Amino acid sequence: MGNDSYSEAMLGDGPRSRVVIVGAGHGGANAAAFLRQKGFGGEVILIGEEPVMPYQRPPLSKAYIADHMSVEDLYLKPTQFYRDQGIELRLGTRVAEVNPEGKFVSFSDGTTLEYDVLILATGAAPRSLDVPGSDLTGIQELRTIADAGRLRDLIPSSGHLVVVGGGYIGLEVAAVCQTNGVRVTVIEREDRLLARVASVELSKVLTAYHQERGTNILTSDSVVGFAGGADGAVRSVILSDGTEIACGGVLTGIGAVPCDALACGAGLHCDNGIVVDEQSRTSDRWIFAIGDVTRRPLPNRTDLFRMESIPSAVEQAGQAVAAIMGGPQPKPEVPWFWSDQFNLKLKMAGLVHEGEEVIARNSLEGFKIAFFHVRGENVVAVETINSPGEFMAGKRFIEKNARVDLTKLADSSVPLQGVLV
Ligand SMILES: Cc1cc2nc3c(=O)[nH]c(=O)nc-3n(C[C@H](O)[C@H](O)[C@H](O)COP(=O)(O)OP(=O)(O)OC[C@H]3O[C@@H](n4cnc5c(N)ncnc54)[C@H](O)[C@@H]3O)c2cc1C
Repeated sequence: MGNDSYSEAMLGDGPRSRVVIVGAGHGGANAAAFLRQKGFGGEVILIGEEPVMPYQRPPLSKAYIADHMSVEDLYLKPTQFYRDQGIELRLGTRVAEVNPEGKFVSFSDGTTLEYDVLILATGAAPRSLDVPGSDLTGIQELRTIADAGRLRDLIPSSGHLVVVGGGYIGLEVAAVCQTNGVRVTVIEREDRLLARVASVELSKVLTAYHQERGTNILTSDSVVGFAGGADGAVRSVILSDGTEIACGGVLTGIGAVPCDALACGAGLHCDNGIVVDEQSRTSDRWIFAIGDVTRRPLPNRTDLFRMESIPSAVEQAGQAVAAIMGGPQPKPEVPWFWSDQFNLKLKMAGLVHEGEEVIARNSLEGFKIAFFHVRGENVVAVETINSPGEFMAGKRFIEKNARVDLTKLADSSVPLQGVLV
């Protein structure tokens, strides 16, 4: 161990250099793979608390709970990949503490592991709904494969599932229920669905689409408790106005909180997530942080963001590895995200802010529509449904800060390359 120089490349390529990655999710597994891709020849140790091979989370609220995927289908890479690449996996193992002065992590059994460089990729955890009755059985959150297994069993037996929280995860699960003939009610505290992350326009389209397929949507309503039967299972959800909604199961999807306790305990700069720079460095020069656990800068923004998305975690894995290896930084990517609900493929790029001018392209009929958010003549965000061309073009316009003709943009008979000024 012990490479104290902080040269262009942080680590020598020798077999004694060691990168330890805590968190074997999307960010951590990609960082390990990128290290090898970039030719790092030292030790790579990937530690994950979950006793499962690194896997994709997005299908957990989509195809996996609809019973269309096996556990193996979810794996990010086949088991052999880690062997071939010499990536040591320590699964079912929780890191209890980080000691930045001694450059080691420790485990609950008192053992320790030294590192030259540490990458924290500990993700986020579901925000808990702390109301009376929340410990009843049949109330489920969704983050891990284990949660998804329980939800998959719960959905058909529930008869009526209540989803608390009208965000993307809640709506995806609602769509799966509805498609499988299970009655579903979505309860959202704000006055519209996706209030935190989507425009009013997109939110209206999705609300109508879900309602037309039978989903009961209640907005401006909050859950104040759950009531259960003698068997300890949830029987109803109680709203703030006293209304009780009978149900056989509940999914809570009210957001996620960063798992930054290790970093905070180690004295790293944390502020609702581990604060990192454009290269995913923390306030300790030997420690990087990536993915949902971070609050990160974005191009052309002065404030920091918590971007909970696969593209963001993968981009940061690339940034950290480039910094560790002393290579060129990857080109900054416009933040983007996707969601699947019924037969709607949603793709969004850029950040949506209320009050911006919104230009719709295509129509609601056929459910192929794009909402371009513009400031002056520049597209700053785009939200699309079943419109991959508009998504790609919109993302490119944002990236290039391109000027567009707003009248042409609204006219779907004008090809997208023809809307540039
Ligand atoms: C149901 C669901 C659906 C989603 N759908 C989409 C989607 O459609 N599109 C999209 O872009 N994003 C989606 N996301 C978000 C996406 O999955 C996350 O942004 C991504 O997984 C973040 O990767 P990460 O590596 O930061 O965290 P994670 O993938 O959460 O991995 C973190 C890992 O670290 C482990 N860990 C934490 N603490 C410790 C410790 N002390 N010791 C050891 N291990 C530890 C955790 O157990 C976990 O396995 C979805 C998320 C969920 C839950």
